[in-house]
Amino acid sequence: MTEKIYIFDTTLRDGEQSPGATMNTAEKLRIAAKLEKLGVDIIEAGFPCASKGDFDAVRKIAEQVKESIVCGLARITPSDITAAGEAVKVAAQPMIHTFVSTSDIHLQYQLKLTKEQVLENAIKGVKHAKNYCDKVEFSAMDASRSDPEYLCRVFEAAIKAGATIINIPDTVGYAIPSEFEKLVSYVMNHTPNIDKAIVSVHCHNDLGLATANSLAAVKAGARQVECTINGIGERAGNTSMEEIVMAIHTRGDYLNLRTDIITEKIYSASRLVSTITGIMVQPNKAIVGANAFAHESGIHQDGVLKNPMTYEIMKPETIGLSSNHIVLGKHSGRHALRTRLEELGYKLTLDELNTVFENFKALSDKKKEILDEDIEALVTEGVLRSAEVFKLDYIQVSSGSTVIPTATIEMSIKDRKVRGTCHGNGPIDAAFNTIVDITGASSELLRFSISALTGGADAQGEVTVRLREKGLIALGRGSDSDIITASAKAYVNGLNRLEYLKANPVNTPETI
Ligand code: MN
Repeated sequence: MTEKIYIFDTTLRDGEQSPGATMNTAEKLRIAAKLEKLGVDIIEAGFPCASKGDFDAVRKIAEQVKESIVCGLARITPSDITAAGEAVKVAAQPMIHTFVSTSDIHLQYQLKLTKEQVLENAIKGVKHAKNYCDKVEFSAMDASRSDPEYLCRVFEAAIKAGATIINIPDTVGYAIPSEFEKLVSYVMNHTPNIDKAIVSVHCHNDLGLATANSLAAVKAGARQVECTINGIGERAGNTSMEEIVMAIHTRGDYLNLRTDIITEKIYSASRLVSTITGIMVQPNKAIVGANAFAHESGIHQDGVLKNPMTYEIMKPETIGLSSNHIVLGKHSGRHALRTRLEELGYKLTLDELNTVFENFKALSDKKKEILDEDIEALVTEGVLRSAEVFKLDYIQVSSGSTVIPTATIEMSIKDRKVRGTCHGNGPIDAAFNTIVDITGASSELLRFSISALTGGADAQGEVTVRLREKGLIALGRGSDSDIITASAKAYVNGLNRLEYLKANPVNTPETI
């Protein structure tokens, strides 16, 4: 009998703490719906005390999601726990995740509290959280650098106070697998009431060991893994969900474990998160990278053709990468589009469907085959970004070897039409100068990158920009069959994200 590993997804909380990955509420709801379909056990929806925007987003997710547990993060302080409790209490299955540091270095320099004071606070905090919901997770921040004996005392007290999950985070990504396995074993063997709680781990990838550490912890008895789609998260990121899930799926023979994740939905979830956050997946990323299933070497190709399992340990179809997926085109109607959208997990209103269909027709005039990636980009740009400050109405650019690159752009700024023309070193520079000129933006362009959204010469260009304004950083992303237009869309998207950050100031404290 295989044992289940609970998947606790923190894409919307720790993932959102990746620099520039701020998402608006509509985008978070879209990801939450995807996570629910994917079969995650717990969705950590945000940090309700961090900002009003975060609170509202967590509450909306709590209202929407039925199948997964919806969790809000809180420090051990009463005001944090109240905020988290108020935000999640409407959920079908609410949960509060509260944390406090237990390492000497954090106690001494950050909290300036004694071990006994922290222990008391942990008990009070868990009891407070229990007033809101039955499911309460307690995390010992910086556990991997804490005194194990003290760690067990805190966990014992937290479980006695009502914690149903205790979490051992490697907050700073410092642990080594064999060492982390020992720590989890120690906790399992030295916390007298450990059988009354599920043991969870939360690993960071600073040394590239997040997945390895999580698996080592599972071997020692942990039964919940905290992770994010594409491994996004603070600094080098978190344990990546697709890696931990596919390791368990592929090596079930050795591990004798399972998860309830519907693996066929992994690839589309990965695409959705990268499209929304603007954080691209590196090509050599395990499981979901563009090269993960590509066999370039001649010898391997020969083997794969004779029998895929000679060199492929997983089938691309298992993560939802299918070579024979339905392709839409010029003659596809509204019904075919809606069917494909539903298969991809998008349930749109009639108005939204009309918008996407209009853009779909425009794109199919320029591009022969409309692939899933194209459809996702159409939804992201046509539906998710509707309530924005800046909107690109049209762009016209002239460039070449004998003309000064010039862009003429019309934009709507809060429904006011503005138009402008500027020169530049090249067509993209001219477009950006024009956008800056007509919006009065004072942001700085930190990075610009372009890639092809799909294969083929008529592929849409996909542009990502990184903008900075007064310490705020936002990523913008745009796609179009014209790369100059894609660049302008990305820049405008980045400006909208900066506006969102200005309107929703987030003061995120240090978290696990
Ligand atoms: Mn974390």
